[in-house]
This record gives sequence, C-alpha cells and structure tokens, in this order.
Amino acid sequence: MANDLRVSINAPEHPKIQKLCKRLGDAAFLYLFKLWRHAAANKTTGVLTNMDLEDIEIAAGWPGEGGAFVACLIELKLLNEKQGIYSINDWAEHNPWVYHAGDRKKIAKEAAKAKWGDNNTRTKLKRSERLAEARRKGRHTKAEWNSMVAFFNNTCVMCEGASNLNGVVKDHLIPVYQGGSDSITNLQPLCVLCNVRKGPDNTDYRTIYCSNHGINMPLEWQANACTTPAQRLRSMKRTPAPSPLPVPSPTPFPSPEPKEEKKTFAPDSEEIRLSEFFINLLDQRQYPWLKNGKPNIQVWARDFDKIIRIDGRLPEMIRRLLVWCQADSFWQDNILSPSKLRKQWAQLELKMRKDKDYEGASTNGHIFR
Ligand SMILES: [Zn+2]
Repeated sequence: MANDLRVSINAPEHPKIQKLCKRLGDAAFLYLFKLWRHAAANKTTGVLTNMDLEDIEIAAGWPGEGGAFVACLIELKLLNEKQGIYSINDWAEHNPWVYHAGDRKKIAKEAAKAKWGDNNTRTKLKRSERLAEARRKGRHTKAEWNSMVAFFNNTCVMCEGASNLNGVVKDHLIPVYQGGSDSITNLQPLCVLCNVRKGPDNTDYRTIYCSNHGINMPLEWQANACTTPAQRLRSMKRTPAPSPLPVPSPTPFPSPEPKEEKKTFAPDSEEIRLSEFFINLLDQRQYPWLKNGKPNIQVWARDFDKIIRIDGRLPEMIRRLLVWCQADSFWQDNILSPSKLRKQWAQLELKMRKDKDYEGASTNGHIFR
C-alpha cells in the first residue's frame, strides 16, 4: 500500500490520454486516475489480480456502458490483458516507489523479526536463552560500556547524531540471535532510531566512525580481542605499557586507519539511479559541466549511499529535495553534488517545507499540482 503515486505533468498532453479523452470525454482522465489510485493502494505491482473487467470499471468509477472503458484502455495500451489478467502498462517504470512498496514492507518485517524474534512465547523463551548463551561467550562490565559511550562522545556511531536523538543504547554488532556474544568487543553505541533501523546488519560502525574522525579505537574493543573482562585484564597486564586512550578529536595527522572498503554500485541500484537523476536535473537546466566534465557516477553513488544508509533518508525524499533545490535560484548553484546535498540537508529541508510549492514537488523533475 502506498500513499502517493507519480503522474507526469505532461500526462494530459500525452497522445494516449488525449485519445482517451477524445473517445470517452475529459472525465475519462479522472477515471483513469482513480484506477491508478486503486492500484497504488491495493495492487502495488500494477497487476490487477482477482479483478475482472467489471471490478476494474467499478474501481475507476466508470459510469458509462459496461466494458467500454476497459476496452478503450486496452486499445490505447494503457492497460494490458493476458489470459484474463489485467495489468497497468509500464507501471513499474512510472511508479517505482509504489511498485517496490511490497519489498520495502517485507524487508522491514524481516529485519524486525530477525532482530526481535516472533511474538509468541516460545521465541520469547528462546530469546532469554540466547542472551544467557551470549553471556557465556563473553561479558562486559558497566565501566567498560560507560568508557565506550564516553569515547564516542555519547554519540550514535551509525548516524553520528544526525537523528537528533539524545542518548545511546547497546547494539550487538553480531546480533545475539546470530550467535553474537555480550562482550564489549561486540557492542556499539547507537541511537534508538538507528538501533531499530539497523536490522540484521553486522557492520562495525565504531570503526567507520573512528576512520571518519581519524582516531584509533582501543584494541581491547576490537573484534578479535579477549571476550571477558577478566581475560582483558590479564592480557593488559601482560602487554607492556598500554598506550593511553586516544581522545576523539580530529588530529592534524590522523594515523592511517583501514578505510571503509569502497563499494561498487550496480547500474540498476538506487544509488546509481539517484546519481543519474541528479545529473539529469542539472542537464535539464543546462548546467555547464566546465572543468572536469560530468562527475564520476560511482563517487556520487557512494555519497547517495551515505545519505540513505547513514542518514536514513528515503530515495523519494532525496528526489524531492533535489527537484526543489534545482528549481530554486539560490540553491541550484550551491547544491552541485550529493556530498553538498548531504551537508546542507537540514537547512534545505527546512526551506523546502516553508516553500508553498513544496507539496507539489513531484519526483519526475517537474511540478505537478
Ligand atoms: Zn543514530
């Protein structure tokens, strides 16, 4: 189920729509829109399963002769029919957000289930058993956790404070249900939002945070360190002169830390599509790509990845903000890369929401009212 759908501002001028209105009257566009709305709400893949010709005309609110509306849509290739099953033509292409609504719901459901387990008593029991098992594998002390929280300035290591939520909670890098231990080596401080959003993701955001800030994480917190406080104490006694805890402030000469491995994004990935969308918007307003020509699309995709993964922005919202800022005479020359978009996000979003045209900003690069 989606709450909105995408309609091009050029739709009324599209030859198919013009023909539809010519044959069935101008109101036919409204009936078609109602059918699209029904699909967005109930048939997000655009395949009108369990709907016959009559059901479709009821969903569209067609008041005319039975069968005439569907026949016209099929003739104009606005609707397809195969072995009695109707589907909206090119729905996935025009309404990717709606089309993938089911996947998103499924992913969120699976992530929640993986993290918290099912709600029945059997899994609840299992969960407490799992925690006992995790503690057998490794334990941490309150002092260790407090020292980690202080090291990261009481900040969420995943969003680095972008969620604007105060305080952090314990997150197990390898979730307890996946056999992770309760040792400090397997804990990271996250805000509540990131903790919920993370799902079954095993990324060690502490090392990414340290890499971003040019600091070194204490060795005893690292994944291959000892798993119980007693072991850690023994090993520290054996190790001559442990170096003092580094201070989490950016140093002028950050020591070389293993950087986050550079990802490569597939051509059909959301990150690449967002990069292309942005380039397209710049092209549309004839932005002169002077110095270096067009940007490296993989570099841009990596920045969009951060906007989605770390900042938790939805692709739909990213598109809206891009459309808005590229139509704004001031911002269009300030936001020329996804990294700049990320930096200025809060200010841009605030300005866009104050803009009376905001509600009408569609994601196809035009304004639809
Ligand atoms: Zn967070």
